Amino acid sequence: MDRRENKRKSENVEVAEPRNKLISPASSLPTDPTLYSGPFPFYGRPSELGCFSLDAQRQYHGDAQALRYYSPPPTNDQGPSFDLRDGYPDRYQPRDEELQEGLDHLLRWLLDHRGKLEGGPGWLAGAIVTWRGHLTKLLTTPYEQQEGWQLAASRFQGTLYLNEVETPAARAQRLARPPLLRELMYMGYKFEQYMCADKPGSFPDPSGEVNTNVAYCSVLRSHLGNHRLLFSGEVDCMDPRAPCTQPPACYVELKTSKEMHRPGHWRNFYRHKLLKWWAQSFLLGVPNVVAGFRNPEGFVCSLKTFPTMEMFEYVRNDRDGWNPSVCMNFCAAFLNFAQNTVVQDDPRLVYLFSWEPGSPVTVSKHQDAPYTFLPTWYVEAVTQDLPSAPKTPSPKD
Ligand code: GDP
Ligand code: MG
Repeated sequence: MDRRENKRKSENVEVAEPRNKLISPASSLPTDPTLYSGPFPFYGRPSELGCFSLDAQRQYHGDAQALRYYSPPPTNDQGPSFDLRDGYPDRYQPRDEELQEGLDHLLRWLLDHRGKLEGGPGWLAGAIVTWRGHLTKLLTTPYEQQEGWQLAASRFQGTLYLNEVETPAARAQRLARPPLLRELMYMGYKFEQYMCADKPGSFPDPSGEVNTNVAYCSVLRSHLGNHRLLFSGEVDCMDPRAPCTQPPACYVELKTSKEMHRPGHWRNFYRHKLLKWWAQSFLLGVPNVVAGFRNPEGFVCSLKTFPTMEMFEYVRNDRDGWNPSVCMNFCAAFLNFAQNTVVQDDPRLVYLFSWEPGSPVTVSKHQDAPYTFLPTWYVEAVTQDLPSAPKTPSPKD
């Protein structure tokens, strides 16, 4: 083994060995809401760049084949009576949650479209690439009191990639998920089946299977402060009768929640659930969330539409409510923190940002497995057609 290789090896050991070694005690980010209550930062209206679908076998397709169409029940009769437990567990094909897909599907889309992005390769080099769901977690962090998160970050050809890592606590919880909670998850998907048709103008068919491998994802770009964002999120359906049929303005998010009968229940719902609903739909530019309220027997008997831009009104005068400015300012502050921390351009170097409620965000540095998340097929394909690194013909060619 030559000296250089030896040196590289010892460097690797140095960064990888103390698994949770902090880079420096000062490199942390506080999350207290009071620190982020300034004016709402600039957030550009998200514009859709494209989409992709995942089929019943979780295979990628670069088209909208998994998109479904909003088809609510007629409003003239007594209202819905959707049995959300119907088909459980015999007509349920849940996705394998042990498969950690990371950013793979989004990277696949990016590989196919990066040459055609408006603004050229320079635009992507200055952007942050991630899932919408990861940004949602950032937005709600100042108010989150239960669940922490870990976000892995790598810089590659300028672009900052952010990928969530399942925390040991979240993994333990998932593996020990109580049967009732499993059924509740099914019920959320079953509601989508009652509300969506496969074709515009046709009707839902709740007799089939619920297969959660199937997904339709929109890919969008936007800006938060100085940060360019390219992200993707799963979309439940589009409303063919929406006033504006251009995505994401035609998209609808579907949710279920417990029927509420006391003002205190509603207050809690506005403080906690509506914050998550707002963050998720606001990021992607989804204008409406349609909620189905389920009774104790698991039937949805009432529906209510919550316009995303009106959700804050429910907590505006509540001292224990949430504030969209705090959410967005914290997210912008985290992105600054990440941009300034992840300075080395290396797809095998991972900065792991960790957060637990009541603490600041901390960061540790890791080389190679198990933290690297940019797949070799992506790194190689992108490296190969770098204009500055042309393939040199070998003497044999
Ligand atoms: P969301 O906002 O949390 O629903 O997440 P996104 O819309 O950003 O989805 C990103 C990708 O993660 C999509 O391919 C989803 O199908 C997938 N996804 C969303 N939620 C889950 C989950 O709870 N578990 C797993 N394994 N994948 C998920
Ligand atoms: Mg939904």
